Amino acid sequence: MTGARNKEQVFEIRGLGLNDEVLAMAELERDPVFHKIAPDKYGYYISRSLDMGREAAVRLKGRDIRELLDQAGVKFNLAASAGTGAFKVALRAQLDWSGKVPKITVYRESMRQLHIAAEAAEGALGPVTFDRIVDIHLAHEYYHLLEYRGGQFTNELLDPVECLKIGPFRRTATILQSSEIAAHAFCKELLGLPYLPSLLDNIYLMQTGHMKMEQFAENVKKWKTILSENGLHML
Ligand SMILES: [Zn+2]
Repeated sequence: MTGARNKEQVFEIRGLGLNDEVLAMAELERDPVFHKIAPDKYGYYISRSLDMGREAAVRLKGRDIRELLDQAGVKFNLAASAGTGAFKVALRAQLDWSGKVPKITVYRESMRQLHIAAEAAEGALGPVTFDRIVDIHLAHEYYHLLEYRGGQFTNELLDPVECLKIGPFRRTATILQSSEIAAHAFCKELLGLPYLPSLLDNIYLMQTGHMKMEQFAENVKKWKTILSENGLHML
């Protein structure tokens, strides 16, 4: 029963016409100050973030992410669990650069759950193994490490938005999600994934019953409409 339902979901995911821009739009929409972005600037944040992630991956393409971390002097450990039952994305992996040796912790239980979800979406994320799921998270964190070491955070390289204006007083904020979009694009390029790995979050929500396939399909339609209304269908 479950298998049959999952296969149906896979078919529909492939039929959704997902591309990097659509999945990046989904990420952008989650930004805390998304409502402050002028719609005609969505394309700017999306394309610049995707480009920055891809460009950082070009010279590293085909390299083993665990070797890259090793060369960068970053320790990686697989911890049992983040100590919570929540399905929060943030608790899958953590990068801690406060110590002498920077360390990435990846949570085994979260990885196991994502592995099950990815397997249910046969092929939608390419061939998936447990190690591959871990590599996806390592590559994502590696991009943040590159940002940190380069002293150039994606969100800080892009235009800030104005959040508050009272007389001469202005407060601006950067678009933090641009850094996430870039990290996903980096990961996709480095590992040769068919889609931005943020798709895995959605597959996980569907596989665990937290989101219906129809809801995701509706969201995809909405993101595509937003993109085309702002002249981004050609991207
Ligand atoms: Zn991140």
